[in-house]
Amino acid sequence: MTRAKMDSFAYGSWHSPSGNLREVRDAVTGESIGYAGSGSLDFQAMIEFATKVGGPALREMTFHDRARALKALALYLSARKDALYPLSFMTGATLADSKIDIDGGIGTMLVMASKGRREMPDGHVYLDGDVEQLSRGGSFLGQHICTPLLGVSVEINAFNFPVWGMLEKLAPSLLAGVPVIVKPATDGAYLTAAAMQLMDASGIFPRGSFQLVVGGTGDLLDRLGPQDVVSFTGSATTALKLRARPGILQNGVRFTAEQDSLNASILGEDVSVDAPEFDLFVKEVVSEMTVKAGQKCTAIRRIIVPETLIKAVGDAISAALNMVNIGAPSERETTMGALASLAQRSDVREKIALLRTECEVISGDLDRFEVTGADAKVGAFLPPILLRCDDPDAAQNVHDVEAFGPVATLIGYRDLEHGAALMNRGGGSLVGSVITYDPVIARKFTLAVAAWHGRLYFNNRDSMNESTGHGAPLPHMVHGGPGRAGGGEEQGGIRGVLHFMQRTAVQGSADILSEISRTWVQGAREIPTPSHPFRRCFDEIEIGETLLTKSRVVTLEDIEHFAHFTGDTFYAHMDEAAAAANPFFPGRVAHGYLLLSFAAGLFVSPESGPVLANTGLEGLSFQKPVSPGDAIRVRLTASRKTRRTDEYGEVRWSVTLYNQDDEQVAAYDLLTMVAYRH
Ligand code: NAP
Repeated sequence: MTRAKMDSFAYGSWHSPSGNLREVRDAVTGESIGYAGSGSLDFQAMIEFATKVGGPALREMTFHDRARALKALALYLSARKDALYPLSFMTGATLADSKIDIDGGIGTMLVMASKGRREMPDGHVYLDGDVEQLSRGGSFLGQHICTPLLGVSVEINAFNFPVWGMLEKLAPSLLAGVPVIVKPATDGAYLTAAAMQLMDASGIFPRGSFQLVVGGTGDLLDRLGPQDVVSFTGSATTALKLRARPGILQNGVRFTAEQDSLNASILGEDVSVDAPEFDLFVKEVVSEMTVKAGQKCTAIRRIIVPETLIKAVGDAISAALNMVNIGAPSERETTMGALASLAQRSDVREKIALLRTECEVISGDLDRFEVTGADAKVGAFLPPILLRCDDPDAAQNVHDVEAFGPVATLIGYRDLEHGAALMNRGGGSLVGSVITYDPVIARKFTLAVAAWHGRLYFNNRDSMNESTGHGAPLPHMVHGGPGRAGGGEEQGGIRGVLHFMQRTAVQGSADILSEISRTWVQGAREIPTPSHPFRRCFDEIEIGETLLTKSRVVTLEDIEHFAHFTGDTFYAHMDEAAAAANPFFPGRVAHGYLLLSFAAGLFVSPESGPVLANTGLEGLSFQKPVSPGDAIRVRLTASRKTRRTDEYGEVRWSVTLYNQDDEQVAAYDLLTMVAYRH
């Protein structure tokens, strides 16, 4: 079993706790686990180790190299994750909670690794958008590119997800090519440290790619500069304190914050007590209140239902909460564990007291509840508390006080506008959910509340069996929200990687842009292909290599034949008068698909060879009609190469069709898989 250790990992080695020590206790038994302290760490040396050792090594790798390393690391952790669960139990998390944290973190890495290989180039420059033509003649162009920041990414994380919290930020940062210093919350830092010990032992990422501070950050933040990023997760109060530090402001340090959030879930007016959506709503609320003992930034804090249903919903949620088994996380029957610490429990109790000034408790008793397999007097246990607020318009605390535990407030709404207004009273939320079977209601809510929410989650009978849950941030989707939620955005696929990169507008000639982006740009130098490009294997093909085909006349018989052969007898190809009356055509014209087929007939090399398959076309546009008697020819230029497997890679070809007057009639990108060897 991995032992609970509080060592920091700095400049390539592990360091025992030192300096001002803070004791950390088991959330369930109250026993001392050890002490955290970072007093002996040299933070300047950590920054330099990251920027002079880790950063350059990471930037040598391509996006795909780093994505492959992320995948390997995720699989390495997955094979050893069993060592982490016992430590996770000590944080108060049940097995189900631990899976969200540990398996969820590993899963996030896998998704980022896969997206990195599918959506980023196998190179060092990420292209953001298309080439912009900045001059009439096309000799001066522009392109937005993203390259990795040259500094370090400092993660400051909340206590609730010691592993996921680290990995969900580490994955995009490493994928971008930026080394990381992780500072987990001190409670639960032993679990983060254990995961990093495994990461270190794996030897998969270069030295200096990641380091760990267990304890305070000392003067680390004051030493950061414009190439560094701080990604903070925690309370709004701490975020404000940190982002307002003079060093952070003066040095223009990027600062993203994921803060607290008074997330709401609303039950649509269309839902009746016997509808499947009613049970679904109750299930989602109960799950959000009890998973991780409600210590989730995305948990439902405000349960907003039609006034007519407030009693029915209250009764149903109370009945379900009565079935919750509070206890030691290691006990099989436990469905809700402990809070992270006694201090956290005191904080939640204080917040409940504030909520009670405006609400009535309708389920749960802070003084009387059963705990199995542990001593309620020493562990940080708390029962689920359901409150009801009868005057939500006048109430303040309900929309403002986050009790970060198994606590939520039931609120009634009169009509859709009122319900939306109540949702928005959170002042900016990570997630809002709407349980409705009516798409019109869903759209009305979207228009009324989306601006206040980072994520909107709709669920009903159609999606409930596969839905991922109100509270689950997914690596594909943006996690973050406006206002109170911090104004930050994490994840969201490659969007999350771009936080760790600089977007630069690059302007210049086509040749300059092609070389920078390693992608052939229209107008750049064309290299006449020494032999047919389809006879050349992946490594032989050069970017810019071009084949110019002979031309082919398109006859009326061709058009007739194609129309009857395929069944596409659309009037523009068949009826001269009707086609001529159409504003786009001079008379009968060739099918666009016929032109594509003729183009392929002009440029392919038919014998078997290194080109294995055509996997698609992108960006197809028909720019000028082709009339019977016109002649077309094709220019095929290798525009980008991406290694895909051990045997073959993708070659993207820029394909342009011209008519006899050298006018462009169609253009697209053709994707082919090409073998590395003959
Ligand atoms: P917190 O008290 O604000 O602490 C967050 C992090 O900041 C911890 O690592 C903490 O370290 C560190 N920190 C505190 N003071 C610092 C300072 N002066 N300099 C450097 N670091 C400092 O929050 P928490 O209690 O851990 O987490 C609960 C809160 O986080 C809730 O409000 C919850 O809503 C929010 N949260 C938000 C998200 C999200 O994604 N939006 C996710 C999870 C949690 P120490 O532990 O060593 O003090």
